[in-house]
Amino acid sequence: MNWRVDAAVQTPAHSALGDVLSYSSTRPLVPGTLVRVPLGRREVLGVAWSVHPADPAYEDAAGPMALKPVAGALDALTPLGEPWRDLVAFAARYYQRSLGEIALAALPPPLRELSAEQLARRLRRQAPAGAAVQEAPRPGPPPSAEQAQALARFEAEPGPFLLFGSTGSGKTEVYLQAVATLLEREPGAQALVMVPEINLTPQLEARFKDRFGAAAVVSLHSGMTNPQRLASWLAAHGGAARIVLGTRMAVFASLPSLRLIVVDEEHDPSYKQQEGARYSARDLAVWRGRREGAKVILGSATPSLESWHRSRPAEGEDAGGRYRRLEMPTRIGTAALPAVRLVDMGRQPPRTVLSAPLLEAIGQRVARGEQSMIFLNRRGYAPVLACSDCGWKSECPHCSAYRVFHKIDRTLRCHHCGFTERVPRACPACGNPDIAPVGRGTERLEEHLGELFAGVQRSDGSAVRIARIDADSTRRQGALQSQLAAVHAGDVDVLVGTQMIAKGHDFRRITLVAAANADGALFSSDFRAPERLFSLLMQSAGRAGRDAAYLSAQGSTAEMWIQTHHPQHPLFDALRRHDYPAFAQRELQERAAAGMPPFAFQALLRADARTQEAAQAFLNAASAAAEGLAGAGLVTRYPAVPHAIQRVANVERAQLLLESSSRAALQRLLAALQPILHGLRRAPEGKGVIRWLVDVDPQSI
Ligand code: ADP
Ligand code: ZN
Ligand code: ZN
Repeated sequence: MNWRVDAAVQTPAHSALGDVLSYSSTRPLVPGTLVRVPLGRREVLGVAWSVHPADPAYEDAAGPMALKPVAGALDALTPLGEPWRDLVAFAARYYQRSLGEIALAALPPPLRELSAEQLARRLRRQAPAGAAVQEAPRPGPPPSAEQAQALARFEAEPGPFLLFGSTGSGKTEVYLQAVATLLEREPGAQALVMVPEINLTPQLEARFKDRFGAAAVVSLHSGMTNPQRLASWLAAHGGAARIVLGTRMAVFASLPSLRLIVVDEEHDPSYKQQEGARYSARDLAVWRGRREGAKVILGSATPSLESWHRSRPAEGEDAGGRYRRLEMPTRIGTAALPAVRLVDMGRQPPRTVLSAPLLEAIGQRVARGEQSMIFLNRRGYAPVLACSDCGWKSECPHCSAYRVFHKIDRTLRCHHCGFTERVPRACPACGNPDIAPVGRGTERLEEHLGELFAGVQRSDGSAVRIARIDADSTRRQGALQSQLAAVHAGDVDVLVGTQMIAKGHDFRRITLVAAANADGALFSSDFRAPERLFSLLMQSAGRAGRDAAYLSAQGSTAEMWIQTHHPQHPLFDALRRHDYPAFAQRELQERAAAGMPPFAFQALLRADARTQEAAQAFLNAASAAAEGLAGAGLVTRYPAVPHAIQRVANVERAQLLLESSSRAALQRLLAALQPILHGLRRAPEGKGVIRWLVDVDPQSI
């Protein structure tokens, strides 16, 4: 008897082949088995999705009717479970991608190359599921009253939970204790702990390994080598790993005994994948938790407005939400949150970069041997180079953006397409030798600080040490870790950097944090910009004065300085009081009035084409064709507009917004649009269109 195996394979993008291809097999494979199957002239990895007795009409057929046989099954590996397959299927459906793309992207790359024999050999070396548990984990510190209450509610209630805890309130400690309690009760259970950025994993990994033993903990993120990723994935899939730490990709890890999912810094935009399948790992974590009966904790000092809106406070005030809110407002120890000081840049002398009172405050900290941190969200020396005679500016010839001046290697670099040239000696348009940088990036700020502190000495007579951390300074493998280590070791007095230094790090001797220019985001066209700014400033403030004992030994206090032309802005008022709920309430009122998320659901259709007209025509044609489709009556379709950065690498980009108060209606319409978009791409309307994509729940508009 023959069997038909429907396997998820990765078909070429936009191909008409569909999600799942059928093959024949002489034995009934278990769904979830990894298989090698022919695709075109290649042999590829696939996942057996469903298996049926073959239709007799096909069974003995030859020629075009015949199914190609499965080339081999990776039998040594336990088949991927039904919950995992459901997660993949849901993600594919919800984010409008193919099943095969999501399934294959979720598997570690080496599985695509290993033969059945190689994999079997590899698995024999793998630790058995029971081997790794350290029975009693090392005890943590006794929980604070707030931690104890959060943990008690976590044990007693179903969740999902929103752990709303100040920076330094001990959220990570709550995760550790929740995992410890789980493993005590259920030794075979597994926990998934996610952080938004790779560079936050080493610190977290150290804390979990210290508590639970190295063998119980594995990491999963894109900074690992392929063999490392395979080893972690197999340990998770086989059950030997009790705790999986990772970035967004870890949400797809195969965890047969998953009981607990933590999403730390749940507000962070990095949880949304920005290319290919644009999934939100946070949202999938909540879905997965419900599907698998695993408890979910979303943690943040500044929750996303979506999660805040969905969460219900301990008692009273029913926000209509379904998340349980656990609150930890107080920092551990006697550490107070930093005092927020606003500097009105309108009252400073023109062209002031760092105001006199801020410089004085930094100088005092340097004298006392404390560290300061200044952040500016712009790398390079200056965002533009310009000629004052003819008005020439350093535009990128391939993008609708300026090239950034990097003084360190005297280049003009486009941060969108990468186009790089030596800085011209004179204006390319008029020959004026006097071309000058306009504006300021981290490189220039670092140089400026060097000049300001050139004559200043530290208490031992040595020079003030200034360092910079941003994407440029950390390009080399391991550079970020060594630069962070220098800060931790006290080898830096003033640290300059981008938001890279604002997140997560447990600095002990930083007592002052400053935002050099916070205004850019205040009047952005992106409606999420204030939310992002508020959380970034709160996160940054959270780096100051984390060690209460150090502060009191120094006789110092923690401060957060903000330089702005708009000190009256209500955002800063809430920030000064560390009052996220007040900020959130005001934002939510505005969002409700404007009918924006979380009160509405959005999707973007995007098209890239040789010309802007072609890109927009394609999107508008799709929108016109949507008239009358399922769900269309409940979905607002806006006209196509150019993308905020309209042209990148000579490709024109356009987008069309779809919005609805009904998530289901929006989903129905998107599903119905898929075949239309595929069809249009091949029709005259698709002429010149290079690619299109759908971004469900987009994070920037
Ligand atoms: P968060 O994740 O909220 O920023 P952490 O969990 O990193 O906070 O805790 C901040 C600091 O306080 C860490 O150095 C941590 O070891 C310490 N800490 C956390 N909980 C306790 C506790 N109950 N007793 C003593 N120290 C604690
Ligand atoms: Zn000129
Ligand atoms: Zn460019």
